Amino acid sequence: MTSTRSQALFERAAAVIPGGVNSPVRAFHSVGGTPRFMVRGEGPHLWDADGNRYVDLVSSWGPMILGHAHPDVVRAVRDAAVRGLSFGTPTEGEIELAEEIVDRVAPVNQVRLVNSGTEATMSAIRLARGFTGRRKIIKFAGCYHGHVDALLAQAGSGVATLGLPTSPGVTGAQAADTLVLPYDDLDAVRAAFAEHPDEIACVITEAAAGNMGAVAPRHNAGLRDLCHANGALLIMDEVMTGFRVSRSGWFGLENVAGDLYTFGKVMSGGLPAAAFGGRADVMAKLAPAGPVYQAGTLSGNPVAVAAGLATLRAATDEVYLALDANATRLGALFTTALTDAGVPHRVQYAGNLLSVFFTADEVTDYAGAQAAQTWRFPPFFHALLERGVYPPPSAFEAWFVNAAMTEEDFAVIAEALPHAARAAAEAAR
Ligand code: PLP
Repeated sequence: MTSTRSQALFERAAAVIPGGVNSPVRAFHSVGGTPRFMVRGEGPHLWDADGNRYVDLVSSWGPMILGHAHPDVVRAVRDAAVRGLSFGTPTEGEIELAEEIVDRVAPVNQVRLVNSGTEATMSAIRLARGFTGRRKIIKFAGCYHGHVDALLAQAGSGVATLGLPTSPGVTGAQAADTLVLPYDDLDAVRAAFAEHPDEIACVITEAAAGNMGAVAPRHNAGLRDLCHANGALLIMDEVMTGFRVSRSGWFGLENVAGDLYTFGKVMSGGLPAAAFGGRADVMAKLAPAGPVYQAGTLSGNPVAVAAGLATLRAATDEVYLALDANATRLGALFTTALTDAGVPHRVQYAGNLLSVFFTADEVTDYAGAQAAQTWRFPPFFHALLERGVYPPPSAFEAWFVNAAMTEEDFAVIAEALPHAARAAAEAAR
């Protein structure tokens, strides 16, 4: 498999774009080699600039549950685009998308549309602080909520991939009100509330962790109870899980209500759109209804809204069944190949998000994810890539299946995995 055109594009990109990419994990730093520059996606496949085809197990980091270029979504985008790209006024589509979200996630009475998951979490935190009149927030190590200054401390995703404790450029003042606690440790949360009475505005958590790899939570109901007992809000970040792990996201699987929610990815259909929402009394504090300011030139963009609506409307029960079945099938293939090759591993699920950790122990928090044998990942990754499978280019990311995968795609994966497992077995630390 050649990657000469991707290599040339990467060099050209590096001259005008820092690191050659517009989001760090895309640069393949932790796995090495040449990032593939994609030119086309259709159904479960991506094609790169050298003409190589891949079974895509990243799905644009989550949004493409239907596969790429789904006809309904493409049609909706085309129809919206010819009517005009942006008006800077309200449109009916925004109401329809908000209604669709409110209908699916019972604790969400109202939503505000924004442009990225980062904006959603940033705005939700501001709203929680404005509503409670408190400063401090609790986040969990290994959870990633976008590149919001106050939320970068011990974050997962690219921050974990690059091994950063936080980021230069985030001042002490911006991070001073952020308490970072271990994931799934309710005693630590209880102690933080005791130590800072009437100071904590909110707890933000990934509804199920996906950004340190997939780690299903046990603490959500306890977090809800502790927040309510202490006058704080619980923010469920469903940017990754929302409308992917079920019709109603992680809430649909667990039924633990947060006070505020953040969404992105699937509800955007692959275009830049995201949302935050929740309890009506809290959302009533948002401008122009209330005093907490939040705004956006392109918020509720009609083309992005059309893509999101078309995606949600096409996401039938059959789609969710296919996502679950494909995740289970992929996980079983991991287990077989890695067991045969004698590689210590855990395949973990959070709904239909999954990851493979190179460790014999269950991973329940960020320390566990970091303790795994991540050095086995680069050769595992490249053996798959070379054989036409596109995995997430980091040991700390979840794998995202889509509903368009076919028998043929699983045959490609099943053929590639034993090679990858052997490469992981032979990996040098
Ligand atoms: N929250 C979670 C749970 C995420 O996984 C992400 C991105 O991966 C974000 C927030 C940030 O979203 P965005 O990349 O759209 O800013």
